[in-house]
Amino acid sequence: MQLNNLCDRLDEYKIEYVLNEPMSHHTTFKIGGNADLLVKAKSVCELKHIISLATEFDIPYFILGKGSNILVSDKGIEGLVISLDGINEVSISSDTIVCGAGVSLRTLCLAAQKASLSGLEFAYGIPGTVGGALYMNAGAYGGEMSQVVISATALDHKGNEIKFSLADMHLGYRTSVFKNTNLIITSVTMKLSYGNQAEIKAAMDDFFSRRRDKQPLEFPSAGSTFKRPEGYFAGALIEQNNLKGVSVGGAQVSEKHAGFVINTGNATCNDVLDLIKKINDTVKKSDGVDLEPEVIFVGRK
Ligand SMILES: Cc1cc2nc3c(=O)[nH]c(=O)nc-3n(C[C@H](O)[C@H](O)[C@H](O)COP(=O)(O)OP(=O)(O)OC[C@H]3O[C@@H](n4cnc5c(N)ncnc54)[C@H](O)[C@@H]3O)c2cc1C
Repeated sequence: MQLNNLCDRLDEYKIEYVLNEPMSHHTTFKIGGNADLLVKAKSVCELKHIISLATEFDIPYFILGKGSNILVSDKGIEGLVISLDGINEVSISSDTIVCGAGVSLRTLCLAAQKASLSGLEFAYGIPGTVGGALYMNAGAYGGEMSQVVISATALDHKGNEIKFSLADMHLGYRTSVFKNTNLIITSVTMKLSYGNQAEIKAAMDDFFSRRRDKQPLEFPSAGSTFKRPEGYFAGALIEQNNLKGVSVGGAQVSEKHAGFVINTGNATCNDVLDLIKKINDTVKKSDGVDLEPEVIFVGRK
């Protein structure tokens, strides 16, 4: 890997980067070894330079949102981690919002509410970015991104812009066309409907307080550990198998919500992976159900 050459060129473009950055500082699990290099793209133009340099020097890259659905290896991430925090414009024109991929769902939901636009209430409290939410087709309380998104723009590994219609994105349960590709979502367009500002706020507050009541928000986690298996609820299966409170190292099945694996303080990635395996083996043996992780493993094996 030609990391030094890449750093020289980033210096030339005056693009800021950090070497050997602990990913535990950038994930809601607070777990993960070092990224070789972390770069924060401040604009789409800067992002294009970064990708073309990574491609020129054959350096792998990973796109980071808020790190709220990833489990990063204790051995860290090879190559470049690119944060889109700086791609954060929100523009509203009548019932349509165009949003930079790095915008947090919280900021987006508050902007929609302020403009009396309804449709995003479900997303208030999901701790991700708009890009991460589209990639995952995030959803809650009967809503999901597919119900509001109408189009998006992404960059390929050469920095070419590609437009996606809703149909092109193949949004399904926690999946999209972007998964396992090196496409980078840069902007997302959503169409909402006009509503009553106070009612929109009440719905957002209601969803938020339901989260606070049911979810172990006082501990680091990556949300629901597993996808919902057809015909079942992962949390209920885990609870029925008496796995609440079971731990491996610092990773524990939450006492409050069995669907969450939490970091009780010093969990490693391997602790979480071992606990996931233990849960999976137990549920498979007793119920014949294969639990598929929703959390995405990232980094060196
Ligand atoms: C307490 C808690 C509650 C949660 N509740 C919910 C919930 O109710 N519903 C739900 O669906 N999820 C939930 N989640 C999971 C998570 O917040 C969502 O999946 C969220 O959409 C992930 O966004 P992110 O920006 O953090 O993505 P990250 O975790 O940073 O990344 C996830 C994946 O998306 C990719 N990605 C991110 N941005 C881009 C981009 N711009 N272009 C291309 N790829 C990109 C990454 O490379 C990675 O593969 C919860 C998590 C926590 C910690």
